Amino acid sequence: MASSEIRRRPTRQVRVGEIVIGGGAPIVVQSMTNTDTADAVATARQVHELAGAGSELVRITVNTAEAAAKVAEIRERLDALGCGVPLVGDFHFNGHKLLADHPGCAQALAKYRINPGNVGRGAKRDEQFAAMIEFACRYGKPVRIGVNWGSLDQELLARLMDENGRLPQPLDGQAVMREALIASALESAARAEELGLAGDRIVLSCKVSGVQDLVVVYRALSRRCDYPLHLGLTEAGMGTKGIVASTAAMSVLLQEGIGDTIRVSLTPEPGGDRTREVVVAQEILQTMGLRAFAPMVISCPGCGRTTSTYFQELSAKIQSYLRSQMPRWRERYPGVEYMHVAVMGCVVNGPGESRQANIGISLPGSGERPVAPVYVDGEKTVTLKGEAIAEEFQKLVENYVRTRYGEGGALRRAPAARNRTIPLKSAV
Ligand code: SF4
Repeated sequence: MASSEIRRRPTRQVRVGEIVIGGGAPIVVQSMTNTDTADAVATARQVHELAGAGSELVRITVNTAEAAAKVAEIRERLDALGCGVPLVGDFHFNGHKLLADHPGCAQALAKYRINPGNVGRGAKRDEQFAAMIEFACRYGKPVRIGVNWGSLDQELLARLMDENGRLPQPLDGQAVMREALIASALESAARAEELGLAGDRIVLSCKVSGVQDLVVVYRALSRRCDYPLHLGLTEAGMGTKGIVASTAAMSVLLQEGIGDTIRVSLTPEPGGDRTREVVVAQEILQTMGLRAFAPMVISCPGCGRTTSTYFQELSAKIQSYLRSQMPRWRERYPGVEYMHVAVMGCVVNGPGESRQANIGISLPGSGERPVAPVYVDGEKTVTLKGEAIAEEFQKLVENYVRTRYGEGGALRRAPAARNRTIPLKSAV
């Protein structure tokens, strides 16, 4: 489901295994591992976790011969687990050599990411870029030409700085830097096409770490080409800062119809869960009405009228329960990802918000009778009380899902093919 306010930018369509990027297809969520790719067991395990959380493409670092030698094994391990998520190889400096020396790696990957700023220096740059494109052609793989602020092609930047210096009214340094990012992506894509790579095998990205820079760069990039765009704020940071910065930058662009695949580049907390970046990316798309991944919990912030942490605990419990059920529910109860569940702290807004949801509960606030009315499809159906409100409400939610989204259920939708392609004209 996409918001009627959003008109997606028309682009070519690129296939990465079973996944479609651009051309009006649903915006693809992707992520990246942080394991050593040479450790096939750990990498396959993390890819499996990321895919289980909903990542539709997973990128892995391919930086050494040891890593390249394990890519085919990682693919086999995932296949054995029934996990078909396409793997994207992230190459820098030596990708041409790794692809030449490890045909199993070249074949097992579904897409190659090439950073034009890190492909080589001087005369070797063109030669090594051409070698990587030739491998993409030989193995029938798409590429992402992924430019990054932190590794911008310095020769290109120097050339643009010189040209700018000769203008009667030169641009400021930041504007030249932004132009260099865009030029690097567009010139590399044009070169790839000259070398024989089809235009519908190219995705572009120009990642920067500043919100305003990202918005300006992607707006310009989207006007100047029709390749699908991979969107992401690079080095977004940790915790709330990373989430807020990524959301602020990407939501402006997504609202303008720019962006065909996204990644949220969060620095995990020590020992933190890598799948958080997938959940955040999904929640950006779902709260904007661009896609639906899991039932949404609507809960109030709580205030002096909430008597204990019980309300927060119930809200957190229901949210994690719903998400944990999705791998099973997605197939069994198509349409359940659109369900809204309200968990509210008192009677001020509780009944009103609960009536708007598919199913909602209004817990007792301070001074209220210790009862919790439950609303189903806008009607009050039962009032819970006692020590087991949470368990009883969870059972009511399960029952709602079974009856409304199971076989013959009124809210059941046609089973959604993952990342189903939508004809461009209706992709709004
Ligand atoms: S619904 Fe009640 S508990 Fe929740 S924020 Fe509003 S007044 Fe406070």
